[in-house]
This record gives sequence, C-alpha cells and structure tokens, in this order.
Amino acid sequence: MNYADTHAHLSDKAFDSDRAESISSAVNLNVNVFFEILCSPKDWDKDILFLNYKENFYFAYGIHPEYAGEYSNQDLIKLEEKLKGNKSVFLGEIGLDYYWVNDNKEKQFNLLRNQIKISERLPMPCVFHCRNGKNAADNAYADLLDFLKKEWNYNSTNKKRGILHSFSGGDDDAKRALDLNLYLGINGTFTYPKNKELREIVKKAGPDNIVYETDCPYLPPQSLRGKRNSPSNIPEISYEISSYCGFAFKESAEKIYNNSLSFIK
Ligand SMILES: [Zn+2]
Repeated sequence: MNYADTHAHLSDKAFDSDRAESISSAVNLNVNVFFEILCSPKDWDKDILFLNYKENFYFAYGIHPEYAGEYSNQDLIKLEEKLKGNKSVFLGEIGLDYYWVNDNKEKQFNLLRNQIKISERLPMPCVFHCRNGKNAADNAYADLLDFLKKEWNYNSTNKKRGILHSFSGGDDDAKRALDLNLYLGINGTFTYPKNKELREIVKKAGPDNIVYETDCPYLPPQSLRGKRNSPSNIPEISYEISSYCGFAFKESAEKIYNNSLSFIK
C-alpha cells in the first residue's frame, strides 16, 4: 500500500534537527509522495531543502491569507515564476482565515483574487485554506465558496480543480466544495472526539472525493495530541478513516493515493 501526504510543511523549523529522518521514516511506511506547501514569499526558495528527494517531493507555492497585508507585486511575479517549475503541483495554500484576524477581509479577498488570476493564467489547480471566525457572522467557508463559484475560471478536463485542505466546514460546505470539483483534504482532526460531523461528512463523501494530508507539524492525530505531527502518521489517519467510514481498507487507500497522484504533471 502506498500513501501520499498532500499537505506537509516539512520546511518548518520544527523539522530543522531531524528533517531527513522524518522523511525517511515516512518513506519506510510507504508514504512516498509529499506535497510540500510553501505559503509565504520568504518560504518559496526552501524547496531547495528537498533537492535530495527528487522522486518524492512536489511543491505548492502561494501566499497564505495571514500575509494579506504584507506582500508586493514583485512577490506575485516571483510566485508565477515559481509555479512554472516542473515540480510544482499547486498554487497554495490560499484562501480566507477569519479565526485570528477578521478586520481585513477586503485585503484577504484582494490577495485571493490576485492569486486566482494566476491560477487561471498558468493554468494551475489550487490548494485552499479556509477557517471560520469565532463568531457565526465570520463565515469564511460561505465567503470562499461563493467567491470561487463566481470568480474562479480555472478548469481542468475530467480532473479535480484542487483541494480544500484541512476541511473543517459543515455538511453544506462540503457539498458545495464537491460541486466546485475540489477534493476535501482530511487529516488528524478526523480523529478528534468533537469532530463527529466531520467524520460523517467524510463517510458520505467517500474515497472518490478525499485526499489524505497531515498539515505537519500541526494537527497530529488524537493519539499524539500535543506532539509534533509528521508524514509518518498518514497510515494511522488512513486506518482511522477507513475503519470509521467502513471503506474497504486497501481499495480505498489505493483510490485515495491515485487521487493525489492525479495532480502530478
Ligand atoms: Zn498548511
């Protein structure tokens, strides 16, 4: 059985002391494809950290909404160049985040709009980040899904258009994301006791519509709460998901692996 981690931040300083070991222990567990997400201008050139793993590593470049107030036109030009590289698979992660900061929505939308245009021009699938605010009025999912439906003119013949990563929306958001032809990115949060709604959403979506990810070093599965997450946890996440959802273990893992590979050029 093979696995892909479709959302890793292995360039994070949390891996500075044992990056090579973290990668090789994942590879030993058959996690052999990594989509490394480099989502701020200062991180893009960290792709060189993975030069020794040419077979295994692919990259997403983008500007995360938390940097909505601190990027330049020059950055957008460089972003487009980085995305033309032959190991780049996504523009991202991009999107809306109202959890920590919710008074700069206009800036977040502008950044998103600027990057969506790059996705259309190249053309390039996207990996989206979306997090609701603490008040019901700050519904980032509704805003993002409305925006994409209205403004995102990227199409990919008979393939999905990208991933809505670390899915944390409701049932209706999931339905709308699938209608937009996105995969739901599912990670260790699936195993958190409070996330019953997410588990039911994944069960309903089925292996055709999901990909596995870690979002490491963040969001470890319940068994490792409080510890650093790493791609070695993908098999456990896969096991938890197929057990809960009643998916055939091997077939679903294979299908989900192939979903991930479909983004590689
Ligand atoms: Zn991320």
